Amino acid sequence: MDRDLVKIQGFGVDSFSFDEAVDYAYNHHGQIVTVNPEMFSTASKMPDFAKVLSSAELVVPDGVGVEIGLKILGHRVKRIPGVELGKALIVKFSKENKSIAMIGAKPEVIENAVKNLKLEIPNLNIVYSHDGYFSNDEAIFNDVVSAKPDLVLVALGSPKQEFFINSLKSRLPEATMIGLGGSFDVWAGAVNRAPKIWQNLGLEWLYRTIKEPQRFKRIFPTLPLFVLNVCKERLFAGK
Ligand code: UDP
Repeated sequence: MDRDLVKIQGFGVDSFSFDEAVDYAYNHHGQIVTVNPEMFSTASKMPDFAKVLSSAELVVPDGVGVEIGLKILGHRVKRIPGVELGKALIVKFSKENKSIAMIGAKPEVIENAVKNLKLEIPNLNIVYSHDGYFSNDEAIFNDVVSAKPDLVLVALGSPKQEFFINSLKSRLPEATMIGLGGSFDVWAGAVNRAPKIWQNLGLEWLYRTIKEPQRFKRIFPTLPLFVLNVCKERLFAGK
């Protein structure tokens, strides 16, 4: 299976279905980015982050914002929530007796996330785990590399987790690595996802904003600005 990239805001996004993305991630190495409108906005202001995004081995549209943006440009690509892709990868890698490393979130959160995953997934082999509040990246890099994981899950928030994975990539060339934002909090039971009906309506972002009003600042004006920029992109493409 080859990548079939669609372009948005100057970046390639893979047009895989959920199952294809799991398969592709399992069979290839490198960095998976679960991209959202905030990340496009960061990339437009931070050339180093733009480079990381362009050099990722797999880029999936994490939320409804990117799905809508792609639709405006005429591409029908369904969103792939990072929290679901991350879980599916853990299940797949465990089934194949592969090893896993998890880095990120608060100490009690990662501890509970690992505990819950162990209860849920038979064969789970976590060879390394660490919370996300450390000052010495090098020490963590060395420990992860020694553990030789096949799958590395990093939940430090964006863009920290993407830079972290990018730096680790050359030292663990055989591993699949994914940045997962607040997913460990969900797996630990510290944060609940929106009810299915909100998810299906593409309104998980609204649910999270109501539950955590401090997120409002992150979504506005980023989300409407992103849609506006994509509309401009479509207008220019039509010329
Ligand atoms: N985090 C971390 N180290 C840091 C900053 C954040 O481990 O220095 C964790 C934080 O505890 C949370 C995750 O990164 O578990 C980021 O969550 P957020 O909700 O910001 O992610 P999103 O899914 O919105 O990108």
